[in-house]
Amino acid sequence: MLEPRVAIITGAASGIGRALAVHYAGAGVRSIVGTFPGDPHDPQETLRLVHAVGGQAVVHEVDVRSTASVDAFAQRAVDEYGRLDYAVANAGILRNSSLAEMTDTRWTDMLDVDLTGVLRTLRAGAVRMTEGGAMVAVSSIAGAVYGWEGHAHYAAAKAGVLGLIRSVAVELGPRGIRANAVIPGLIETPQSLDPVNSLGPDGLARAGNDIPWGRVGTPAEVASVIAFLTSSQAGYVTGQSLIVDGGLTVKMRA
Ligand code: NAD
Repeated sequence: MLEPRVAIITGAASGIGRALAVHYAGAGVRSIVGTFPGDPHDPQETLRLVHAVGGQAVVHEVDVRSTASVDAFAQRAVDEYGRLDYAVANAGILRNSSLAEMTDTRWTDMLDVDLTGVLRTLRAGAVRMTEGGAMVAVSSIAGAVYGWEGHAHYAAAKAGVLGLIRSVAVELGPRGIRANAVIPGLIETPQSLDPVNSLGPDGLARAGNDIPWGRVGTPAEVASVIAFLTSSQAGYVTGQSLIVDGGLTVKMRA
């Protein structure tokens, strides 16, 4: 019997991160549930859902803008469960800003979370994966596939994640650590339900009608793909990115 696996997940008090903690719990993977105190999400709800399926997890505050905070977060896995197998860099922010209003501060604030925050998470995970492991970073169709008006900083960060993940995969392969990215399409979460910085409920409903699968995605539908990429079933997959979008990006528009 393999010892149960242990994962760190940033941004796991809501959305895709929460769904992943719950998915992992059902598969016997123990999680360190990263929660960002600056947001109103309730990490105890993630914990409740994990326990409801008979899983184990602990909640740990983490701000991916701080190397010390992320290092302490990753160390919690070792302190709590004695090992670290999976690192999932899921935390992200989305802000609306035209190019004309794109101050240097807006740009660097975005990249600090959505790109450097990913680096900090993967780096902190890598040094603690003593028996090999797997990493997944969450990109976006905005940046990875499409441009998005008013979101150049977000798209740049999410495109950057793909270059980062490829290089990490090459560097860590010899240590038995795989690194991949998921590229979600439109997924109903607090981020996309924000009508100021994203589509909001009405925009999501409209967009859903135009997706080949007929609707926007659920957090669980992304979480299960992340879990697959970290699992041994994807044991020969590294440096790749997988689009999870219900066919949105392959639909030809006349
Ligand atoms: P979400 O807002 O529910 O999740 C983002 C999480 O990141 C939140 O829990 C938030 O508290 C956390 N976070 C924000 N700033 C942080 C910081 N400084 N340190 C640590 N945590 C921080 O939305 P989501 O859609 O579940 O987002 C998860 C990931 O998926 C993000 O990277 C997002 O960009 C990406 N994504 C989402 C969609 C979508 O349609 N929802 C599409 C493509 C990509």
